[in-house]
Amino acid sequence: MGNGKKPDGTKPLYHSGSADKGKLLASFVLDLVYPRRCPVCHDIAVPRGRAICRECLDKLVPIHGPRCFKCSKPLSDREAEFCYDCASKKHSYDRGISIFPYGSVLSQSLYQLKYHQRQEYGRFYGRYAAACAGEQIRLWGPEVLIPVPLHPKRMEKRGYNQAEIIAGEIGRILQLPVDTKTVVRRVNTKPQKELNDKERRSNLRSAFAVRQAKLPWKKILIIDDIYTTGSTVDGVSLALKAAGAEQVYFLTIAIGTGFC
Ligand SMILES: [Zn+2]
Ligand SMILES: [Zn+2]
Repeated sequence: MGNGKKPDGTKPLYHSGSADKGKLLASFVLDLVYPRRCPVCHDIAVPRGRAICRECLDKLVPIHGPRCFKCSKPLSDREAEFCYDCASKKHSYDRGISIFPYGSVLSQSLYQLKYHQRQEYGRFYGRYAAACAGEQIRLWGPEVLIPVPLHPKRMEKRGYNQAEIIAGEIGRILQLPVDTKTVVRRVNTKPQKELNDKERRSNLRSAFAVRQAKLPWKKILIIDDIYTTGSTVDGVSLALKAAGAEQVYFLTIAIGTGFC
């Protein structure tokens, strides 16, 4: 994994054609009016115009070393194939990859992305994820990226979906379509804790609905910002598989590293 390029906003990860010049100019002007904030220190990134401060980039350390074959969580035991969670629980998705362990830097950064209008962080993490995991994604060969949807009421209140921003950037770089219409989120009323395994699965599945009777894709990559217990990804994956998807993968920016 990884191609050695630093997604720090200074070197483009792809070459933009002349059609993109207008967009570049627009982003230059926007940057003068609303300078980009750094996703690590949350100040205006220095040198100005970068997506992240040069020094702050070193504070973002992607997962490296042994990791769970199923969910990609870092493992302390080199011999183990799966993390405790994946060894003891059956997930509905096939495999997934996360970029960073969920620690204090990422928790603050993703919180700002979600609740404080820092959409630029989502674009930064999308670029970072494409650079780190692009090779793996190509090997899996998904036909479409599906960001985990927000409930329509929450979407209306917040105005944007952070998973959609991340997916948009990954899709643009890896040239994969992003679908935001097919999966919808429903209100989930029953608390998961009070249910047995079977009820839990049906409760998870009912949290998401697929709008098409038959999906036009066989391989799908779900995109989200954080993976904690995996229940959200499992819920989307169950709904997609019930509608005919054969392989469902996920990519999240961060993954909780504690046992769950
Ligand atoms: Zn910074
Ligand atoms: Zn795992």
